Amino acid sequence: MILLSVLIPLALFAAIYYYFSYMPGAQSEWEKLPTLDVYLARHPAKNNIITCHNCRHTGRMDIGLVQISDYRRKIICTQCKTTLWREQD
Ligand SMILES: [Zn+2]
Repeated sequence: MILLSVLIPLALFAAIYYYFSYMPGAQSEWEKLPTLDVYLARHPAKNNIITCHNCRHTGRMDIGLVQISDYRRKIICTQCKTTLWREQD
């Protein structure tokens, strides 16, 4: 009985932690984003300068998918905030 009273909250905590740190819904959306190679195939760099396909701005920002230290990274345009491609640390 004592074992169950410890295991059930522990399992519940683990499930909640997994859900909010991994976010399965966000994962599937992230996987739909192009990789850098696919992005460059669709929007070739001119003079080795990669630009945003939406506004032609060259500034980019690297953000975590769910949290700042997330290994799943999204590269977004600093001007129009369009998501350009995904990366993985
Ligand atoms: Zn842009």
